[in-house]
Amino acid sequence: MSVEFADRKKTATSLTGRVIAAYGRHFEVEVARGTVYSCVVRGKKKGVVCGDEVEILPAAGDQGVIETILPRTSLFYRSEIFREKLIAANATQLIFVLAVVPSCNLELLDRCLIAAESQRIRSLILLNKIDLIEQNEHTQVVAHHLMSYQELGYPVLKISAKTSVQPLIPLLSGQTSLLAGQSGVGKSTLLNALVPQAQQTTAEISNALDSGRHTTTHVRLFHLDADSSIIDSPGFQEFGLQQLDEESLARGFIEFRPFLGQCKFRDCQHIAEPGCKLLQAAQEGRFNSWRVACYHKLVKSLKKIHPWMEASKRA
Ligand code: GDP
Ligand code: ZN
Repeated sequence: MSVEFADRKKTATSLTGRVIAAYGRHFEVEVARGTVYSCVVRGKKKGVVCGDEVEILPAAGDQGVIETILPRTSLFYRSEIFREKLIAANATQLIFVLAVVPSCNLELLDRCLIAAESQRIRSLILLNKIDLIEQNEHTQVVAHHLMSYQELGYPVLKISAKTSVQPLIPLLSGQTSLLAGQSGVGKSTLLNALVPQAQQTTAEISNALDSGRHTTTHVRLFHLDADSSIIDSPGFQEFGLQQLDEESLARGFIEFRPFLGQCKFRDCQHIAEPGCKLLQAAQEGRFNSWRVACYHKLVKSLKKIHPWMEASKRA
């Protein structure tokens, strides 16, 4: 991580605020409700992200410079081998949105749950567009999978954002919720139903920044009430987890936790090692097969391979 936390020497004129919008190298920082500064970051400091608490130095008019990022309670981000994409800071809850159409990408769901677990962010799974549900084989498979996540302890809520977002509202109270999911699942529809001015704000920013030439991906925080807010992030099709080591990867699968730390090898990766308690539990049918397969796929994609595996590859 390249985030720098500058020393917290406060100058007489600096203000503390929250980043409520991040687009490229421009940030909107709210220092009091309704008082927003348009900011850039001083020097080469990187890594300011929507949701960050920051100290800014006001300049002319409503302009300002971000001087310091205050310590975070969480950072939700994805990391591919050559690229890191910070998404939001200080979120307390991830809302992963899936929809009946386009079909559910469970690997993407698992990846986001793992990223959230590693930052101690709780997760809520939201199945949208249930008005389109037809009783067929596909929907039965989806229902079965979602039931399994519920059994693991993740709340699953089924809604039709077009009809009513009412069932979601109590679950947002007191949280900084981060909306995530593939494009087309209905995140904008959901957000517009929750925050009526969201559509206008988004359109204004697109007009101001893009001039119709290109699309800037941006992340924005909206207040729901005095202590609840929601962060909207651009849809994504992939979610790299290269930031995690093997241990946090395995811990990201919450059902694996009771079995961790008991394998024969202390640094067991639970792939094919002898004396692996996790594999034993998997063979006993204690986990969902697709979660184990997902774990294996992810752990093998990490760069470091256990020496035992190296030896077995040569054997
Ligand atoms: P986003 O890319 O995740 O922001 O998705 P959008 O909010 O743009 O929605 C994608 C499409 O799904 C749009 O045509 C929406 O009108 C539609 N949509 C969103 N929510 C629902 C829903 O609950 N039911 C139905 N039938 N369509 C929906
Ligand atoms: Zn093991």
